[in-house]
Amino acid sequence: MAPRKGELTEEERQLLTHISQGNIQETRRLLGSKDVRVNCLDEHGMTPLMHAAYKGKVDMCKLLLQHGADVNCNEHEHGYTALMFAGLSGNKEIAWLMLEAGADADVVNSVGRTAAQMAAFVGQHDCVTVINNFFPREKLDYYTKTQGLNKEPKLPSKLAGPLYKVITTTNLHPVKIVFLIKENPLLMEIDALKKCCTVLDLICEKCMKQKDMNEVLAVKMHYISCVMQKCSTFLQDQEDKLDNFIKNLLKGRDPDCFPVFQEKFIRECIRKFPYCEATLLQQLVRSIAPVEIGSDPTAFSILTQAITGQVGFIDADFCTTCGEKGATKRCSVCKLVIYCDQNCQKLHWFTHKKVCKMLKEKREKQEEEAAREKRRQEKLSKKDFFLVEEMKPDEQLAATEGASNSQTDASREAECPPAPSATEGSKESKEASLSSSEQTADASISQTANKSEE
Ligand SMILES: [Zn+2]
Ligand SMILES: [Zn+2]
Repeated sequence: MAPRKGELTEEERQLLTHISQGNIQETRRLLGSKDVRVNCLDEHGMTPLMHAAYKGKVDMCKLLLQHGADVNCNEHEHGYTALMFAGLSGNKEIAWLMLEAGADADVVNSVGRTAAQMAAFVGQHDCVTVINNFFPREKLDYYTKTQGLNKEPKLPSKLAGPLYKVITTTNLHPVKIVFLIKENPLLMEIDALKKCCTVLDLICEKCMKQKDMNEVLAVKMHYISCVMQKCSTFLQDQEDKLDNFIKNLLKGRDPDCFPVFQEKFIRECIRKFPYCEATLLQQLVRSIAPVEIGSDPTAFSILTQAITGQVGFIDADFCTTCGEKGATKRCSVCKLVIYCDQNCQKLHWFTHKKVCKMLKEKREKQEEEAAREKRRQEKLSKKDFFLVEEMKPDEQLAATEGASNSQTDASREAECPPAPSATEGSKESKEASLSSSEQTADASISQTANKSEE
């Protein structure tokens, strides 16, 4: 029998309580009980999965899905789905989980909004990115079937898997995409690449022409199609398995080693986007056009930010060769560039070797300066401690709050959009002031401790 709204057993009520409290053990135990239906509905028509998604509890969502929770249940009084609740919670991992479990992103709530639109409305841009970038395998498999009068499908089914791997990447570095292509011998054929490009262009067109336009996905498909197109040209001209294309993409100019070919290539891909009226395209062009080649931000970072919502490329652990996140291997000489592994380092060395020594000297100089600055700061902060000590407790608090506020303002100015939502901002500054006043408390404690030792 299908569950009815508000008809909950005692155990089911307990289940909802444990979910909201994050008690995974009790939730697991109750899900094993015969008196608990995983898709039961509370009086608002919310399932346990919706509750877990809204509370942002990843493990709980996983557990419920394992127990057969219906990801597309649409009994909520305002037509909200679990994906919509995930979007509202701002937890992108949960949004991804729901989509992977087959959540329909095109469903609208009682006022006609999709999950992505709801997430955007509350400023949860990471979730918007996840939802907009998600591309279900069935939509690609569609092209592996013969349609209408065509004798054969647009995409041979053996190419669907390898192509799907390429289009679901969130790392859009051209070298990374070439890696993904090289990884699969099926894709290393001119004919195969051309078929993939045709399909990507068709998906791009569909994204732009459907009722719920998805410009993000359209730009992404177009961009990958451009890289594949270029790969087929290189395969045609040279028999080197795309090594020369990679070399071109990495080759740095004199004297700063900036990869000019790569920058120009990405800019050209964006410029070639066939739907001039697209807002996202205009936004990209506006951000890229005023930047001189060789300055920041690069076309790659602007594109990535638009498509994945990822910000902050500077000082992050991105591989210099392929843009993969989480790179840890440093060049042992200059210690300024990082790579995923030795393979990435080897590929980059032909151009990096020209600047490695110069970078090393630059780093050493910077380190010296930093050490000097640190000593100076230490001296200054000692002075500050005495000032804070002399104030009354009330004044002390006010002083720290003021300091933390100005700090958040400054960091907000430095960071570019997306602007944080009002609630996020106030939460952040509250936390910041909390931790900084705690720090002061600690500092004054240790200060007194030091004094008593003296
Ligand atoms: Zn790499
Ligand atoms: Zn180096």
